[in-house]
Amino acid sequence: MQYISTRGGTLGQYCDVLLEGLAPNGGLAVPEHLPRLSVDDIERLRPLSYPELATEIIGLFATDIPRDDLARLTAGAYGGGKFRADEIVPVTDIGEQLTLVGLSEGPTLAFKDMAMQFLGEALEYVLAQRGSVLNVLGATSGDTGSAAEHALRGRERVCVFMLSPQGRMSAFQRAQMYSLQDENVHNIAVEGNFDDCQNLVKRLASDLDFKREHSLGAVNSINFGRISAQIVYYVWAWLRVTDNVDAADRASYEVSFAVPSGNFGNILSGHYARSMGIPIRKLVLASNENNVLDEFFRTGHYRPRSAENTLATSSPSMDVSRASNLERFVFDLLGRDPERTAAAWHELEERDEINLAAELDRFASEFGIVSGTSTHSDRIETIRDLHEKTGVTIDPHTADGALIARANIETGVPMLVLETAKPAKFADLITEALGAAVEPDAETQALLGAPQRVVKMPDDEQQLRTYISEHALRA
Ligand SMILES: *Cc1c(COP(=O)(O)O)cnc(C)c1O
Repeated sequence: MQYISTRGGTLGQYCDVLLEGLAPNGGLAVPEHLPRLSVDDIERLRPLSYPELATEIIGLFATDIPRDDLARLTAGAYGGGKFRADEIVPVTDIGEQLTLVGLSEGPTLAFKDMAMQFLGEALEYVLAQRGSVLNVLGATSGDTGSAAEHALRGRERVCVFMLSPQGRMSAFQRAQMYSLQDENVHNIAVEGNFDDCQNLVKRLASDLDFKREHSLGAVNSINFGRISAQIVYYVWAWLRVTDNVDAADRASYEVSFAVPSGNFGNILSGHYARSMGIPIRKLVLASNENNVLDEFFRTGHYRPRSAENTLATSSPSMDVSRASNLERFVFDLLGRDPERTAAAWHELEERDEINLAAELDRFASEFGIVSGTSTHSDRIETIRDLHEKTGVTIDPHTADGALIARANIETGVPMLVLETAKPAKFADLITEALGAAVEPDAETQALLGAPQRVVKMPDDEQQLRTYISEHALRA
């Protein structure tokens, strides 16, 4: 399968775009056409384990990786006891017409592990084939950094330099990252906030000579490898819900998915699953107070906000005001026309706003996404109410999803809420919601008490350059 830029031109195959999701013309890598699964194709996937299903689904996109090799990569990503649940992604009916899709059973207790664990395997494979190395440079305010570190730790051809804002992460987040003792993981705590960290990354990544000399790269949410790995659990969840449905009724059995959203990566994978033939009725997008995407799907106006105008909320992994994957969805919305997409993004750069209301209306049945916004008190109330009625405790991101899910329930259509993190990561908020302190489990206590390995650094580009030059892997 060939990959093209959303703004025109070809980019090569899956392994080529795995290392660089951004096209030279500023567009994003997308497959030339989306594969389609027939009813029979989907039925044949039913008996497969999660890693086997991942091989089949990712294999539709990664046609340049031989099947046996791909099967080894998915077994490495989703095997070996890295995920707490045997089934990898448990699908649980919790009553109240809601089904929880457990995406946070991985090593960092958040859904980013689902894609990142596969990407770690796939990167090592591609780099070994090409005899090259990759030094990942990133900035994190929490989840993404730790998922990347846990996926890349101990690998031979990859090294991670992860900047985090000193004193601004929770004890749990710090422990999850800084307790890694692997030599190829470099935690750098910068004296500054998350934007300062991100600016340092941007400055180094835009110095093309430095970038090339040190084989610098990123594993951010626009990486198509991550998007492809996320499609797998939409297929998995539909299969598990329909296991109990009469075989004759399955083909037309629709489910809806509610997706706590930030960079539009997770829900984009759901859009692709639906486009490939999985019977998805509604995709329900949940925003927190940073509700740029909710505004887009309600009004057709996309108006990204600056970092200064992005609020720090109690569902911090959704504090995004410029959704980096939205361009891929808009590309489909505009009839997969690269010229129209380039023109739309050009207009966005000029005016900081685009209006796609007419296109959203025209394609409502095909691409329809409904949306909503939650506030801090909504999250607290949803966590409390669901706990009371179902006995299940959810984290604040999943609470965003559950709130908007409940507003969109239809009789006879299962509503699947993607659980994107475990409540243990947000003990303070759970205490606020449930009125009682949650005792950390033994695993969490051990994590919090483990020795930490982190380098402290001022907000200083030159010092960062020197550190990277001294520690980067060389081909
Ligand atoms: C990253 C993240 C999200 C948002 O996912 P996107 O793909 O950026 O839309 C939601 N919840 C949690 C816990 C996350 O880590």
